[in-house]
Amino acid sequence: MIGLVACAAFWASASAQGLMSATYDPAIPTLEQVAGHKTGEKITSPAEIVDYLRALEAADPARVRVVEYARSWQGRPLIYAIIAKPETIARLGEVKRDLAQLASGAALPATERSALVERTPAVAWFGFGVHGDEITPADSGLALAYHLLAAKGDALVDRILDETIVIIDPAQNPDGRARFLQSFNEGLGLEPQDNRFTAEHDQPWPGGRFNHYLMDMNRDWFAMTQPETRGRIAAQQEWHPVVFVDSHEMGGDETYFFPPAAEPLNPLISQTQREAHDAFGRNRGAWFDRHGIAYFTREIFDAFYPGYGDMWPTLNGAIAKTFEQGSPRGLVYRRSNGDTLTYKDGVFNNFIAALATLETTANGRKQLVSDYAAYRRSAVEEGARAPQRFYVIDRAVRMGQAERLATSLAAQGIAVSRLPAGTRACGRLYADGALVVDQSQPAGRLVQALLDADTPLPPEFIKRQEERRKAGLAHELYDVTAWALPLMEDVDVARCAKVDLSGASPAGLSAPPPATAALAAGFGYAVPWTDAVQAGLVIDALKSGLTGSSTDKAFTSAGRVFGKGTVIFPAAGNPDDLAARLEQLASASGAKVVTLASSWAEDGPNFGSSAFAGLKKPKIALVWDDGTSPTSAGATRWVIEQKFGLGAAPIRVQTLGSADLEDYDVLILPETTGDFQTLLGTSGTENLKAFVSEGGVLIALGSATGALASEELGLLSTTAETAWREEVAADEPEKPNAGTRITDQAAYERLIADPDASPEDAPGALVRLDANKDHWLSSGYDRATALVTGSAIYKPLNAANGTNVLRFAPADQLVASGYMWDENIQQLAFKPYLMAEPRGKGLVIAFAQSPTTRGYLGGLDLLLANAILLAPARVESGTAR
Ligand SMILES: [Zn+2]
Repeated sequence: MIGLVACAAFWASASAQGLMSATYDPAIPTLEQVAGHKTGEKITSPAEIVDYLRALEAADPARVRVVEYARSWQGRPLIYAIIAKPETIARLGEVKRDLAQLASGAALPATERSALVERTPAVAWFGFGVHGDEITPADSGLALAYHLLAAKGDALVDRILDETIVIIDPAQNPDGRARFLQSFNEGLGLEPQDNRFTAEHDQPWPGGRFNHYLMDMNRDWFAMTQPETRGRIAAQQEWHPVVFVDSHEMGGDETYFFPPAAEPLNPLISQTQREAHDAFGRNRGAWFDRHGIAYFTREIFDAFYPGYGDMWPTLNGAIAKTFEQGSPRGLVYRRSNGDTLTYKDGVFNNFIAALATLETTANGRKQLVSDYAAYRRSAVEEGARAPQRFYVIDRAVRMGQAERLATSLAAQGIAVSRLPAGTRACGRLYADGALVVDQSQPAGRLVQALLDADTPLPPEFIKRQEERRKAGLAHELYDVTAWALPLMEDVDVARCAKVDLSGASPAGLSAPPPATAALAAGFGYAVPWTDAVQAGLVIDALKSGLTGSSTDKAFTSAGRVFGKGTVIFPAAGNPDDLAARLEQLASASGAKVVTLASSWAEDGPNFGSSAFAGLKKPKIALVWDDGTSPTSAGATRWVIEQKFGLGAAPIRVQTLGSADLEDYDVLILPETTGDFQTLLGTSGTENLKAFVSEGGVLIALGSATGALASEELGLLSTTAETAWREEVAADEPEKPNAGTRITDQAAYERLIADPDASPEDAPGALVRLDANKDHWLSSGYDRATALVTGSAIYKPLNAANGTNVLRFAPADQLVASGYMWDENIQQLAFKPYLMAEPRGKGLVIAFAQSPTTRGYLGGLDLLLANAILLAPARVESGTAR
């Protein structure tokens, strides 16, 4: 056919694929023409991906728009391409207004509603490769864009362009993809290897899965810690996709997964959504059958945690799904069964899954658009009837955290109202005002998911897991069971049926918190140690050269009580414009600063007391690379750098033996992996010990606590416990060959139990902690909430060795949110969460569970600030104990 090229030219070798019969328009550039390789022949780089979509836009501006929605930390553009028929592209502004109207949850008159549904295309959003070493999806996105634009006389493509707007986000994690490609290209020899153990498949630490800060962005949706996620969340609110696909890869021995998802399903997923997944799944199954592609559904990949790329859109009303292709992790991969999986196979499979999805979307366009509007409308209606419709967030105790939570909710399209100081709501007086969220809004189900104290697992699912555990099988939970944001930010939320919002104003992104009052002249200024925003102001002040001291005892000044941790910036010894500079820092951050007229304290220490220790900007090093968990190292770096504005110098584990650690006040050891001690070696161990004994602060997070407590390191006087079990004396033979009688099932189980078994693996629950209120390291806390995952439980420190600064609450009060196995609850009660052990001139601080996980445990930020900012001051002044 003249002027058209056969589809064979599009794929590296299409004959094997038996692709559709379409011919392609030569006016639309192929990938080969732009990037120099055919689809599936090479792994397209992040820069080539951008170039190619831009080339498509240039070739066919009437049907393609490319939008840059964010920049990665390393400066790479994140883009999506909008593809639709010219008539739709020409009226995108109108379409967006219609979409906003449909998504508004408003009760529209029937005629208006049906007219809107009639004229509104279904937006189908495809996000590819959020994990950077899941490589085939990005090329599938490019193939999809080409096929939609270049296929001629293809009835399905015509129908898709008529009925939908296709949005292609080809590379959700360009920094991670670039990191994968770097190691792949360096490993590649004369010809691609199919052996998974060769260098091109075997990525060095940290691997390409994560972004620059080594965050797993498929857990980040509601936490929005990363610019890539923030950009995508903003775009979702602009486009309101009714269909959303997050296209991933899994292990190369697996085939292909698409929904229906595995149990457990989040209870907020509607029946309509469940049925739609079934219909979409059946059609994909039919396409896969036609092309001879094996797949599975309803296994492994669940739909419970709202931070997944598919769950956040689901809770906004979309039919959102995860696809998983077995990864070749390179160009060719030999599966355990001897089959060969090529890069091109993977690209093709994702492409077919996308086309099948678009067929169902185009055929069901009106129903999908109508269902989306109905989901949002029903959220408004259900919310209005909810007996505890309003969430009232107190600003009194942790003002900064409360404001951060409000800002985060607002950025997700959730309306938040501000009640002025002195307002009554839910039967309480809010002296410092409150932030209010009404469940009756179109994002009401997302509100419930994020603010409810608990999202229950389906009872029959729990029952099955308990049966599995009894039978010695692993549980089937894929991620944490708790994420309640008020608990994670450690703010107080009251619930009630009615709140008078007549005096309220909108809160959130464009409405900053009220500025603090002007500071008067006086002896100095106090920064109450109440949350991480307060600590942030102190850090900024120290960075700008101001001098302040922190108290380890509460004091009362002019009738007001200032808790321990409070930082005083005295006028004497600081620049003349101290007040103005603190005021400026306070108004920029929303932090609270209080004028102290005089140094006289009615109760507690005066400023000249040894209770006050001089602060300085800490110099922090962070242990990095092989031997540490990438996500823990990355999240810790992110918290230190982006939340506190402090540098965190990364030092590789294998360099610790020769590194000059004298440059640093604080050394943070993020969660370690099993080979940490080996990689650290004798010289590294000696150097760590010397660092502490000479006055350094060594902070261990999560599993690093076990490493410090190990015999090799011996830097912490605790022990990781084995699983508790009932006394077995009566059943256990004295000699190995002595005769036994096993009288019942329980005795049998005790006899065969592994005495060295670890406690059961906890998938993740939020638990309550109680503070030792006398210790400076608990400044700002009477109690706290932590996330517990895994199986590590430590023995409390003996008083002769150190202090258990925070410990897990008693068993009956322990679990604040989520599900935890009963034997873990019983064994964890009263055990240490935060330990401090002086050694030589220095101090070892150990968190049994990391406070920096995913960067989303904001309520523990102040505790980390105690460790990185207050601890060096206490060590320096000799008051660390
Ligand atoms: Zn993935």
